[in-house]
Amino acid sequence: MAVQSPKGTRDILPWEVYKWQYVEKIIAELCRNFGYGEIRTPVFEHTELFQKGVGDATDIVQKEMYTFLDKGGRSITLRPEGTAGIVRSYVEHGMANLAHPMKLYYIITAYRHENVQKGRYREFNQFGIEVFGAPGPSVDVEVISMADMLFKRLGLKGIELNINSLGCPACRREYVQELKEFLTPLLENLCIDCRNRFERNPLRILDCKNEKCRQHLKDAPALLDNLCDECKSHFDGLRERLDNIGIGYYVDKNMVRGLDYYTRTVFEFISPNVGAQATICGGGRYDGLVGLFSDQDVPGIGFALGMERLLMEMENQGIEVPKPDGVDIFIAPIGKTADIFAEKLVYQLRNAGINAEKDVMGRSLKAQMKYADKIEAAYVVVIGDNEIESNKAVLRNMKTGEEKDVSLDSIVNRLKKTG
Ligand code: ATP
Ligand code: MG
Repeated sequence: MAVQSPKGTRDILPWEVYKWQYVEKIIAELCRNFGYGEIRTPVFEHTELFQKGVGDATDIVQKEMYTFLDKGGRSITLRPEGTAGIVRSYVEHGMANLAHPMKLYYIITAYRHENVQKGRYREFNQFGIEVFGAPGPSVDVEVISMADMLFKRLGLKGIELNINSLGCPACRREYVQELKEFLTPLLENLCIDCRNRFERNPLRILDCKNEKCRQHLKDAPALLDNLCDECKSHFDGLRERLDNIGIGYYVDKNMVRGLDYYTRTVFEFISPNVGAQATICGGGRYDGLVGLFSDQDVPGIGFALGMERLLMEMENQGIEVPKPDGVDIFIAPIGKTADIFAEKLVYQLRNAGINAEKDVMGRSLKAQMKYADKIEAAYVVVIGDNEIESNKAVLRNMKTGEEKDVSLDSIVNRLKKTG
């Protein structure tokens, strides 16, 4: 059997890529409006970057990474997300010495060894942003409003924003003790994953999707009710500022997010179309992350948005992406002399910025016209020996059927005007 693409990967085919380009263009404009510059980092990094940066206890590091030894015996991992690589780059290039806030965005492929389902792939695309240097909550609102504005610009309706606070290491430490006391008598009733999480990462238990676990956790103490004064006022500030610019939200006390590095603000944007893969965008503040890789203490916040899930949601909501126009003109030569002539003409047209095609298959006139139709050419001009001799040809508007006599050497200028 012919070789097929590996499980969990997908081709973005020429006839659907325009949807991606459309969204990418809107993202680039949005990032410019908000003052974010693009950063591109490698697809693979040293494995320890993610062990440290994403966190050893996370599902990503425990179960999902594509890790291998390269020919030099180094442990390499395909990036499962974007933030760790950017933090590495930030530290490596001494960006802490540049003007702050440092506002960056990326559009990347990411790799996770997942159970493949709709909206859950092994290679997928993320748009994300990171801001370094601002402690918030003002910048937290900027970051959240950016994702919100993207949804609005794309015409999406009903995307829900959930927010929560994970506090700082100090209030979290106290809270985790309290949570563990609450959980201890319940432990034997919880799922095997939760029992494993109890020592490694008890906060994650709150986020368990298992219905039985959820029932037992109904009355668990919430971190949000146990924040220290500073974390509480950060969260209150975030809420006030969201209200101020008119972004609606829910407070979800159980939201913990999958990555270990979050502090204080965490948020998710959820699709109203219920499904296991409803989270389109997730983010939060990571004030300790830069400090893990340097002796600098730099606050940070960002989000990552799944491009496949965003496009799925657009499709679910029936949002039509404008299709790119067909070719401006197709030149159909008859015979060898005309073919040589047409070759030069199509070159001149393209050089003038006109989208022009010419037969390169040696097809009959009838077959050429059929092809011109297929590629949705706006105009067709047929060129034979007579046309070259008289410098005159018929320019046919394929939509209206209207035909006009034109001099061959005026075609470039004429199309420039109409185009
Ligand atoms: P989930 O709970 O769905 O596994 P996550 O918490 O692992 O998501 P993040 O690491 O926060 O996801 O990634 C940000 C976004 O990237 C997600 O909200 C989602 O839209 C998208 N995403 C994550 N994993 C995948 C995947 N395997 N395939 C497609 N998109 C994904
Ligand atoms: Mg996941």
